[in-house]
Parts: sequence; C-alpha cells; structure tokens
Amino acid sequence: MSDWQALDQQYLMSTYHRLPIAIERAEGNHLYDTGGRSYLDLFTGLAVNILGHSHPAVMQALRQQGERYLHVSNKFLNPPAIQLARRLVESSIPGKVFFTNSGAEATETAVKLVHKWSREPDRARQGFVVMEKSFHGRTLGAIRLTRQPGVYQDFPQPAIPVFEVPPNDIDALKTVCERERPAAILAEPILGSGGVQPLEKDYLKAMAVIARERGMLLLLDEIQTGIGRTGTFFAHQAYGITPDLILFAKGVGGGLPLGGILASDRIASLFRPGDHGTTFAPSPLSAALGLAVVEELLDRGGLEQGRKNAAYLWEALSSLREKHPDVIGTIRGKGMMIGLDTRLSPEEALRLQRGLLEDGVLVDIAQQRVIRLLPPLTLKPEETDFFVDRLSTRLSRIGEGIS
Ligand SMILES: *Cc1c(COP(=O)(O)O)cnc(C)c1O
Repeated sequence: MSDWQALDQQYLMSTYHRLPIAIERAEGNHLYDTGGRSYLDLFTGLAVNILGHSHPAVMQALRQQGERYLHVSNKFLNPPAIQLARRLVESSIPGKVFFTNSGAEATETAVKLVHKWSREPDRARQGFVVMEKSFHGRTLGAIRLTRQPGVYQDFPQPAIPVFEVPPNDIDALKTVCERERPAAILAEPILGSGGVQPLEKDYLKAMAVIARERGMLLLLDEIQTGIGRTGTFFAHQAYGITPDLILFAKGVGGGLPLGGILASDRIASLFRPGDHGTTFAPSPLSAALGLAVVEELLDRGGLEQGRKNAAYLWEALSSLREKHPDVIGTIRGKGMMIGLDTRLSPEEALRLQRGLLEDGVLVDIAQQRVIRLLPPLTLKPEETDFFVDRLSTRLSRIGEGIS
C-alpha cells in the first residue's frame, strides 16, 4: 500500500472505493500519478473536464479572474456569473438562472421552486414523477428523487411526493400523471449512474406533450448530459423539446464547483429575495472558467470537433463489438457519454478496469458490469485507437480465461 493510500484510509471517511492512484498533475487528456505513470482519462473527473485538462482557454480564464478577485458574495453584481448566465440562457430556453455549488444543490433548488409553483392558487398538483434508477444527487431532498435503493435506503426521507415510473413506457407515464396529479416530471435525458440508459426520442417528446397538456412542469436533469457531453449544448436540443427547467452542473464550471438551474421566466419569477440563497455560489472563478468553456464550445468550434471525435470513437467501438460479441452487448448513450454493456461478472468487470489502468487507460464501471466512458470532447483519434486496442486485448484475454 502506498503512503497516500494509508493516509487516505486513516483520515478520510470511506464513502468511495478509491482507485489506489495519487494524481500529481494532469495535462490534455492524460493524468499523471506520483509514480510517474500516465493514464488516458476517459472518466474526466466524472463528466466534469469536458475539454480535458489544462485547456489553454480555461487556464487563461483561471489566471485572469484569479488575479482580479476570488469571492465577493451575492451582495454584489458578479460580472463573470452574469455573462455565463446570459450565454446559458441564450443557448437554451428564455428564462433565468440560479447558480449553486453542485448538482445536488441544483436539485434542491428545483424542489423548492416547484414547491412554490405547486402552491399557487388552483394548482392542486404536488410532487414529482421520476424514473426508475434515476440519480439526482446525495443531499436529503435529492435522495428522495433518486431511485437507487443503495443511495437512499439508510437515510431519512423528506415528505416530497414521488412517483416512480419505468423509463420509456409512455402509457405508464400517462397513467401516473392522470392518477396522481404530480406537479412535475423530472428526468435525465440519459440516465447516467443508472447504467447509461437513454430515454428514447419518442418518449421524451411524449413527456413534453403530457406535461404541457396537463399543465405540469417538465424538468430535465442535464447535470451530466449538458454542456456538450452528448453532442448538442444540452442533450434535449437533439429532440426538439422545450423543458420548463434545466438542471446543470458538472462541466459548467470548467473543472471548478458550479451548478444551477435555468427556469423559464414564468417559474423563475416565483423566487423572491430571501427565498433561497448560498454563500459561495456562483464562485466568480468557477463562472469565469465556465464562460471560457462555453465560448470554446459555441464560438470556437469545440462542440463540432467534439461531435467528430465522438463519431470516430463510436465507429471504433462498434468494430470492437463485432470482434467480441460474446462479451459486449449493447453500446448505449450519445456523443461522449457511453455505456458498453458487458456480459462480465462484477468481479471480472473490476479486474478489467484494473487491467486497463495497468495499460494506462482510465474507465469507469457503472451498475457493476457497464463500462462507462465519459471522455473529453477533445479525445483525439489516435487516443481512441490506443484505448480500443488495449480494451480489445484485455477482452480477448478474458475470453481465454486470463485477465
Ligand atoms: C452528478 C449528478 C448529480 C449530482 O451532482 P453533484 O455535483 O455530485 O451533487 C445529479 N444528477 C445527475 C444526473 C448527475 O449526473
């Protein structure tokens, strides 16, 4: 065991199965550990570093804003945050932003805002429709909306009405909306920690119609799918639907903590001074980095380049599946959010992940046997080739009983 691993176990609570690697620095699409080894980063800090590490535009924003000021609080106007909010609104739905420090806090904010909305006169609607295996965060309100027993079962649950439906079943959704009179539907366009399960286009479209016809709100959790991850700025934009509220976080702070909600004007105006707040968010530094990311994606071709890099990766993965039909099942997701469903046992999947680490490639495992890839949009074709070659070799060895 390395010194860092021993100290980690002594001083930090063990809420994660950590990989035994201490990162010293990161550059481009690679991490470098304290032992001098490098890893191709197909995890990007859990879908955060959308442009890889140390991107020049992000580093420039870091230096510039870092020299101006780090924090002033919500008592002052915050130019980097105002500019970022404007870009987010202009590239999605007309409305207003509330910034938070994290995804879970964005979920909490949405819960409070929807609650205010549902208490307006004559509304007579309450609570949320959510998907089986959804993930919306780890705070108390967010675990109520998260439908993974491992996340909520040992903890107190606030009394928010929640109605769980199986994803992609339009009839089930209609029935629940009719019977329970919920205030809102909350969904991830692609369920992330639920195993990279996309909602189908027809289902998303039906969801928007059902919500509109019944006077409900449609909330999309784009915390993971947003900011270019799936090939459009927000994932729902590929389906021509318009939500009433979007949750975002992860990629939006350029690697620093930042999240928030963007709500259409009609709902956003329900928050009055004193209704909600936070000391830190929006950090001017996070906002400045986020602004650099958005400009890179939308003004300098980052999104377009990301789509090309993703198309190359998808090609390579589908050839890989043809070579290993016995191990790889479906390949799910969109853009740079991909799940390779394997027929491996949970132990084999973990051994595969460790094996790839030895080869210098970092991937994640979700739902025990899904190889989860969250690569940067900047992933180069030669990096894809390197990864797919190593993965193919590892899969062949598993087929032969060596791992
Ligand atoms: C990560 C994630 C969250 C929670 O974000 P945190 O910043 O970890 O609190 C919520 N919803 C989705 C879809 C996520 O991927």
